Amino acid sequence: MAKDPNTNFSFDTELTKRGAYIPKRHNSPEALPIYLTTAFNVDDLDDLLDRYSVKGYCYNRISNPNRDCLSDLMSYLENGEASISCSSGMAAITTALLTSLKPGEHILADMTLYGETFDLFERVFARYNVDYTCIDMTDLGKVRANIRPNTKVLFAETASNPMITVVDLKTLADIAHENGARFIADNTFMTPYVIRPLELGADLVVNSLTKFANGHFDTVCGSITGPKDLIERCHLYQKVLGSQADGFVSWLTMRGMRTMSLRVERQMQNAELLAKALSENPHVAYAHHPSLSGHPQHELAKRQFGGKYGGMLSFCVKNEDTKLINAFMRKLQFVHYAMTLGGYRTTIAHPVSSSHRSVPEEKRFEMGITNGLIRVSCGIEEGKDVVADFTQALEVFK
Ligand code: PLP
Repeated sequence: MAKDPNTNFSFDTELTKRGAYIPKRHNSPEALPIYLTTAFNVDDLDDLLDRYSVKGYCYNRISNPNRDCLSDLMSYLENGEASISCSSGMAAITTALLTSLKPGEHILADMTLYGETFDLFERVFARYNVDYTCIDMTDLGKVRANIRPNTKVLFAETASNPMITVVDLKTLADIAHENGARFIADNTFMTPYVIRPLELGADLVVNSLTKFANGHFDTVCGSITGPKDLIERCHLYQKVLGSQADGFVSWLTMRGMRTMSLRVERQMQNAELLAKALSENPHVAYAHHPSLSGHPQHELAKRQFGGKYGGMLSFCVKNEDTKLINAFMRKLQFVHYAMTLGGYRTTIAHPVSSSHRSVPEEKRFEMGITNGLIRVSCGIEEGKDVVADFTQALEVFK
């Protein structure tokens, strides 16, 4: 700001203007400061024009330094040209899809999806004449058979919620491109530490940074990464939708992300250990984790993710009685229920009652989601303690 901050005005005026500028000697902090400001000072109309042309910051909904830093980090991690950071994973998904679709067009998606992504198709896009079909995308024949002339987006999660199925990302991208469509991948479950879908041909990758990226259960945030021209269009939509991540959330999310590799590595080890123990437990009907040799896409996952299998798993108890499931939840000692995932502590969720609550029952059955299904997000605790906690709690089914 060019104006002299030391010129004295009356008390009430000084009350509004003093203390607004950081003295020079504090100007090189080791940690990025948080830009909690709605707007930035503009010197004159020339400066304002410069700011509009993205040379500088003017208004927080349009751009913010913390948000831009988070976006830069995401572009590096997902190996994309550009990114935008959004107010949530759902904001990222909605913005990416709105940017890619017009009324009369069609989305072809995997059938095991996060429940609210499904709600977005069913309850929102359907009202705007955007049709969708959800199919088992692990069956590539089905994918080809369900493409329509108006299909403009293929959408899948890199590991699905909650069944942890794995799709062939490169082939899906190829099929999309052969048919004039875009392939959008949701990388929330696997994270860019494990896989970078853009490298396999995806056009856009979305992430809920709320989960493994942040890892500390204290923000809701999302991102879209892709080629510069597409991300510029997403940014245009973001500006008018107001789906941007705010400065503080961007800062806190980025702080969590600094340790993502360390956390995810341990979370994956614990998931492998727990999946094996659950698959051998007499009270468990089956466990789903791509590390298990019996998982239907074990070989694909091994190849596609380079021997990494992610920190999410699910399992189904043999006795699906709600009273017993409640008793099991109460008996767990440090593992607990939380309606989120990817954090540093091991948490469980019951998809029928939470993430997939609003999905019609027949669709849930089609996805394999029944009352006995429990989703586990592994934390960074000592693996043998996690296994022991589940093993002792499963004794309620005896
Ligand atoms: N994508 C997946 C796979 C998810 O599991 C979730 C939430 O659990 C989302 C997207 C939505 O993320 P958010 O809660 O940050 O909007």
